[in-house]
Amino acid sequence: MSKHAIQLPNGQKVNWVTTLILAGLHIGAIAALFVFSWKSFFVALALHWVAVGWGISLGYHRLHTHQSYQCPRWLEYFFALCGTMTLEGGPMFWVGTHRVHHAKSDLPGDPHSPREGTFWSHMGWIVFGETNHNNSQFMAKYAPDLARHKFYWWLNTYHWVPVVATGLALLAFGGIPMFLWGFCLRIVYGLHCTWLINSATHIFGSRRFDTDDDSRNSFVLAVLTFGEGWHNNHHAHQTSARHGMLWHELDISWITLKLLKSVGLVWGIRLVKPEALVLEQKAA
Ligand SMILES: [Zn+2]
Ligand SMILES: [Zn+2]
Repeated sequence: MSKHAIQLPNGQKVNWVTTLILAGLHIGAIAALFVFSWKSFFVALALHWVAVGWGISLGYHRLHTHQSYQCPRWLEYFFALCGTMTLEGGPMFWVGTHRVHHAKSDLPGDPHSPREGTFWSHMGWIVFGETNHNNSQFMAKYAPDLARHKFYWWLNTYHWVPVVATGLALLAFGGIPMFLWGFCLRIVYGLHCTWLINSATHIFGSRRFDTDDDSRNSFVLAVLTFGEGWHNNHHAHQTSARHGMLWHELDISWITLKLLKSVGLVWGIRLVKPEALVLEQKAA
């Protein structure tokens, strides 16, 4: 059992450090609603795009896990830094966990399948499960490509440093209201958006592709997560850099990627052949 876990009378373990941090952030997020200002709101929104849009969707997910496009090394590192702003752990932890999710989707061994309970798939696996957030040695097994870089190794172990520094900067320059919005509420909102991909898009929504898992497509979730809600498309074609595969499937990360490509910052984009998409649509 991890040294950060305690055992409940019913035998279940609780990661008390994670639980206390999450509880504190949720209290801060509620408090933020009482000190609203448009300035704090827009700072939080901008940080949300940087953290979840660039860090998770473009970085940890489409680049670091699935290598669905290529970019300069400094941009790879920058996206990973943005990923830590979500408090979803460092790059080796996130990538390793997600690769196991794809390898065992909705089967025994999937870290967060709703078949083991909706709450478990949403946040129970973080509160009650084995915690390896800072265990870089362990996560290196699942992300050996990232483990070769000293930067990722450092960032994985000290993933909380950049986000805490940002929080302190918000407090210093914007006071408590800016801290509550840009740190507490923004992180809590980003966490639940990401967690909904693990829970809701394996329960609710439509299925274009007849995959072996329960993955589904959701427009609402795609809006909340910059395109990650097209989760059935993604499970069917994991290396495709474009998740919203039809013109009406809004995928803000895909639009961002096209912009980055137009200025030469991104290349080698992997996509699904249009004819494959049509054929599979008929088959589904
Ligand atoms: Zn999934
Ligand atoms: Zn994936």
